[in-house]
Amino acid sequence: MKLQNAKALVVGMEKSGRAAAAFLAAQGADVTTTDLNQHDTPGFRIQSEKLFDEAWDLIVPSPGVPLDVPGLERARALGVQVVGEVELAAPYLLGRTIAITGSNGKTTTTSMVGHILQSAGVAAQVGGNIGTPVIAMTATSHADQWNVLELSSFQLETVRTFRAHVGVCLNVTQNHLDRHHTFGNYAAAKGNLFRTQQAGDHAVLNADDETCRSFAALTAAETSWFSGNDIRDGLVWVNGSPLMALSDIPVPGRHNAENVMAAACIARIAGVSSGEIAAAVKTFKAVEHRLEFVTELNGVRFYNDSKATSVDAATKALDSFDGNLWVILGGNDKGSDDTTQRERLQRQAHAAVLIGSAAEKIAGQLAGAVKLIGAGTLDQAVHQAWKAAKPGDTVLLAPACASFDQFQSYEHRGLVFKELVGELSQRYGAKA
Ligand code: ADP
Repeated sequence: MKLQNAKALVVGMEKSGRAAAAFLAAQGADVTTTDLNQHDTPGFRIQSEKLFDEAWDLIVPSPGVPLDVPGLERARALGVQVVGEVELAAPYLLGRTIAITGSNGKTTTTSMVGHILQSAGVAAQVGGNIGTPVIAMTATSHADQWNVLELSSFQLETVRTFRAHVGVCLNVTQNHLDRHHTFGNYAAAKGNLFRTQQAGDHAVLNADDETCRSFAALTAAETSWFSGNDIRDGLVWVNGSPLMALSDIPVPGRHNAENVMAAACIARIAGVSSGEIAAAVKTFKAVEHRLEFVTELNGVRFYNDSKATSVDAATKALDSFDGNLWVILGGNDKGSDDTTQRERLQRQAHAAVLIGSAAEKIAGQLAGAVKLIGAGTLDQAVHQAWKAAKPGDTVLLAPACASFDQFQSYEHRGLVFKELVGELSQRYGAKA
């Protein structure tokens, strides 16, 4: 659509909304910015029901804004274009695009693909949900450069013309039902990524995931499959050939081996050889707060999986180790059921070290299965685990809870954990 002089309303003034507003202003649109909270962005007006009823040509809701709020539904009924920042960016994004979605593993896989392409000397820029908004990447896009994008279901909801030359879905599990209402809607949002593909494009899909398999029927692209069954004899296989030894993958767990397989399929399509891919994966560092190796002190290893804010994610973390764990659990309760962790903790852990407001509830759900240490704070938890751990053990922060009772975010919690571990070496003379 023509943006010059268009009356545009951008809803939600976080990173992507601010980038969309700046982009529209640069294109000569008449931009109003809005949010439920006061912001000092140009053209700002506080959000109200009535604001949506003005004569807009275009409304750009941020990914966090549900599309079924009444104001947006009315505007759409009146023929106003309601598109997200990714769809808005589509005509302006030069070069070929790799778009990665899924319920889990998006950030890790996107970052791994960026690392492989960079290591192999293939020009690429990385962004989307992982960092730089797609709309802001348009300015730095080039015809001979790849755009590697992490896209969430919220960003894909309004996609109509955005085209991924390589579309990727890692898995689709129950998530964000508060926003999408049904699993079908959630899956359909992810499916949008494949509907707009054209002949000659590529779809990279998880053969073990029923919803991913259904996307093959939606797309005109050629499909490449990866599967957990392709981890055999200690090797990871891609497109029928062995890529590398499982033990050479620096990020732990089967789920990360699946991320490697997806990243390898993508990089092959971008022209990188298997040898270059394997070499690059060996030097990949976990994305911060995702089963991130922190340090080893006197034979005790520390891992930060602060991003494991659900029981499901914490389960993946526990399954990534061979045992001898001291697991720091707790935080803000999300109404989750920790009894599903009982057997796993019994098998894998010396103790669960409990913190935060959910500690009492978790203690009730785990009683009798594993030794419980009530620590209260993360500071206490790190010290208690350290004092009890023996060489060969691992202290793992995988809280299975949100962080907001004691921290600003999961990132903040992870940073504090790493600081506390850093202080151990000073306080106790521990050696790395
Ligand atoms: P996302 O960006 O989709 O949230 P991340 O790469 O940030 O994914 O990983 C979030 C958490 O999800 C990790 O801590 C890990 O426990 C889990 N995870 C990562 N990759 C996968 C995968 N392929 N399948 C299932 N779970 C995964």
